[in-house]
Amino acid sequence: MHLADVAVDDPTFASALPGRFAVFGQPIAHSLSPRIHAAFGRQLGIALDYRAIEAPAETFVAQLARFGEEGGRGANVTLPLKQHAARLCLTVTERARRADSVNTLVRDGVGWRGDSTDGSGLVRDLTSRHGLDVRARRTLLLGAGGAARAAAFALVDAGIGELTIANRTSERADALADAIGQPGRVHTRAWHDLGSAGAFDLILNATSAGHHDPHAPALPGTLIAPRAVCYDLSYALAAIPFRAWARSAGAALALDGLGMLVEQAADAFELWHDRRPDTDAVYAELRAHLPGNAED
Ligand code: NAP
Repeated sequence: MHLADVAVDDPTFASALPGRFAVFGQPIAHSLSPRIHAAFGRQLGIALDYRAIEAPAETFVAQLARFGEEGGRGANVTLPLKQHAARLCLTVTERARRADSVNTLVRDGVGWRGDSTDGSGLVRDLTSRHGLDVRARRTLLLGAGGAARAAAFALVDAGIGELTIANRTSERADALADAIGQPGRVHTRAWHDLGSAGAFDLILNATSAGHHDPHAPALPGTLIAPRAVCYDLSYALAAIPFRAWARSAGAALALDGLGMLVEQAADAFELWHDRRPDTDAVYAELRAHLPGNAED
């Protein structure tokens, strides 16, 4: 059906328009989300208009309200807005409430319903794409921001073994461990004390350090157990320092978060469109064309 064939006052007019979606954040110019959602839409024959909208924390609430009033049906939210988004929702899912982080908004009448798909995206990338069995792995999580919180709950649910959380600001690591509430299994460790923390089978970098600092993080090589898997939630150039450290310290695998990005996007897409896209082709296409993105 062509829009030109439909009268503007015909109720089918609105449903014939491409749905409006967006990702809000700052900086946002290099976001891959518009490409990913456009590719999912093409794959499933769903017309959509998905844009990246630069939004500082100070104006995000007003920008999102305008987007909703103008017909926006769904949005993704990224740095530094995930906690702001959690505060403005009419309702949030249980996983978003636990993580205190919302990366996906669904228009619900006059307001927004919030969800967090980062954790499910991460676990699916680790287990389905990379074929890893995360169960019982002694795990170190670096960071305690929005992504780390979503990752921590999802990893615990997925059956990892002991979890140690270390963050530059130790109070945030303590707050995350308290929120998970399994003191026998989940601990924190001061960053400067990681040298005596022993070795880990799975190490995740959920800090944003690689976006600002091109040097490898100051981490002791003793953290790496034989056959350890290291995973940076960031991707492309921002993942280079951590992955370089992991390789030089002897990790069996040093992965980045590109697959997590595609998987969390697929979860958001399904919430909006009720259809599940195939992620492998989109992942392969991005992997082939991004800088600093070699897979190993
Ligand atoms: P966030 O809420 O702003 O948290 C940032 C985290 O990084 C905090 O733990 C912060 O520590 C730490 N940090 C920042 N600079 C640091 C430095 N120089 N040294 C050590 N720690 C530092 O950000 P976020 O949303 O959690 O995102 C974190 C990372 O995950 C980003 O790289 C983001 O791109 C990535 N991510 C990827 C995906 C994906 O789909 N692949 C999804 C979400 C996030 P303090 O608490 O001390 O400030």
